[in-house]
Amino acid sequence: MSTATKERPSWEDATLPRCSWLKLSNPAYVRYHDAEWCRPHHDEGSLYELFVLELFQAGLSWETILNKRDAFRSAYASFDVDAVASWGPSDIDRLMQAPGIIHHRRKIEASIGNARAFKAIQREYGSFDAYLWGFTDGTPLRCAPNVTRNELSDALATDLKGRGVAFAGSVTMFSYLQAAGVVNSHDPACFCAPERMQPTDAHA
Ligand SMILES: [Zn+2]
Repeated sequence: MSTATKERPSWEDATLPRCSWLKLSNPAYVRYHDAEWCRPHHDEGSLYELFVLELFQAGLSWETILNKRDAFRSAYASFDVDAVASWGPSDIDRLMQAPGIIHHRRKIEASIGNARAFKAIQREYGSFDAYLWGFTDGTPLRCAPNVTRNELSDALATDLKGRGVAFAGSVTMFSYLQAAGVVNSHDPACFCAPERMQPTDAHA
């Protein structure tokens, strides 16, 4: 992009071409679309945060979860996987009362087991990043905007289920792969589409 974009973040510019499904009336959603969605994530904290949010999202809209992101951050110890993995029954009771999050008992119960599975993967692979990106040898996969699951998400969902991860069906895992940037699903006309980005942006 030109140097002119330095002064003004993209999400303050409503005239940019974006994915057709995006609700421009929600600034948090526009910012997420522009700055996070389908961009390669490699740090463990972000990958865990998205893991929590996506598994709660199962059956709900991503916008609903995104609007609750700060509440989840407060309730889930700033997405500290070590803390969450150590929680027990009293924490489940606390989470069922925590303001602003999804009070779905099975998901809340599963979130603790999922944190333990996440940590087990970190131990086995050295990092969750190495595990996740190993599915594509580190290369993002370009997908059409209307795809909601594929062989990659099937494989990830099956592997995670075998590790005891709950609420990790293939559609949910496809959404996770998009969030983590392993899959890129921007509309070809969107300014974030890889075909439209300058080489310098693509490596940012
Ligand atoms: Zn887009």
